[in-house]
Amino acid sequence: MVIGILALQGDYAEHRSCLEKTALGCRLVRTPADLDGIAGLVIPGGESTAIKRLVASSGLVEPVMDLIERCIPVWGTCAGVVLLAKGGPWDVAGVRVERNAYGPQVYSRVVMARTSIAEGDVPLVFIRAPRIVDAPRDASVLCRLGDEIVALRWKNLLLTTFHPELAGGEPFTSYFASMVASPPRRGGSMEGA
Ligand code: GLN
Repeated sequence: MVIGILALQGDYAEHRSCLEKTALGCRLVRTPADLDGIAGLVIPGGESTAIKRLVASSGLVEPVMDLIERCIPVWGTCAGVVLLAKGGPWDVAGVRVERNAYGPQVYSRVVMARTSIAEGDVPLVFIRAPRIVDAPRDASVLCRLGDEIVALRWKNLLLTTFHPELAGGEPFTSYFASMVASPPRRGGSMEGA
């Protein structure tokens, strides 16, 4: 099984380093042909306005939409969440976000927090992160900071407003690999969530 990583802008190389440690293969995605046969897709962090322009000019909006509708697991990190949220090219995650919600770059930070998918605290790297202001009621919340949801799974989507790939990836990279290994059935079953 091969996981695609959208590689138009942002920190796709870090995602690749993390995914290479799993049992699954990975491939950088820059054209619609690169999506052929992939079993999952990572939309990395970076600059969402730049990625939005580049996915349009690369002809990737429709093919990625098709993949999401076929229930292929998709993981958005930071800018990737913005792209899957309302107002983005795909708008499939049932979430509304506020971009750059924590202020300028100087307020970027690393926070230790609990998640429901690992023992103990894990480091969460926030860089000009979006805030999820509305999420589907039936989403599985994987991590909260105070009142705010910062990681969730909904159907075939995994959203993390921080950057696991800048902290070694775990436990989120393995969690996504397990979603890819046993994806939800078409129609949006939450089995395995
Ligand atoms: N601020 C960026 C945006 O909304 C996201 C930042 C990131 O991915 N680290 O495009």
